[in-house]
Amino acid sequence: SQQQNIKPIQVKLVLLGEAAVGKSSLVLRFVNNDFQENKEPTIGAAFLTQKCRMEDKVLKFEIWDTAGQERFHSLAPMYYRNAQAAVVVYDVTKAASLDKAKSWVKELQRQASPNIVIALAGNKIDLVQPVDEGEEESANSGRQVPTEEAKAYANEFGLLFFETSAKKGVGVREVFTEIAKKIPLEL
Ligand code: GDP
Repeated sequence: SQQQNIKPIQVKLVLLGEAAVGKSSLVLRFVNNDFQENKEPTIGAAFLTQKCRMEDKVLKFEIWDTAGQERFHSLAPMYYRNAQAAVVVYDVTKAASLDKAKSWVKELQRQASPNIVIALAGNKIDLVQPVDEGEEESANSGRQVPTEEAKAYANEFGLLFFETSAKKGVGVREVFTEIAKKIPLEL
């Protein structure tokens, strides 16, 4: 079809956040619609691309998935310096991971492009809310970051906000499509 002849618009995107919050899993869900229970940790950074059709445009996300370990922190500027978008991920069952996410946001807002679109994603919501019908209500006990708290923070700092489950495929595609809507796209 005509769509396939359109030259894709490239969107450079970086994922940041504490180790084990699910950055690689979110990318795997978005790119392959897959999930792995025991993922090998990312060393340094991994690069993947994913095309995404938006109305009459075709976007090609160029995704840098960074390692969350502190020893790789000094590499991060290489990946976010030219990025048009960043997804900063925390784990809704770990309050400390939101603190780490906030420090990434602060760093991005100081050092990255002033036009960068930043999304905050609270991942692993499958652990705190019944995703499937009939699932146990008692699963709610593990939440450490209330939705309203993270949302208020995101609003204050001008971030897009999502809660996601890479495991169940909840909210993942929305992260990327909402980012795409906010990026100035030249044809
Ligand atoms: P990263 O270090 O931030 O890239 O995190 P990974 O993607 O490697 O995930 C760390 C661990 O959390 C792995 O064991 C994943 O299977 C698990 N995980 C990732 N996303 C989710 C999720 O949405 N729900 C649940 N329950 N586990 C997840």
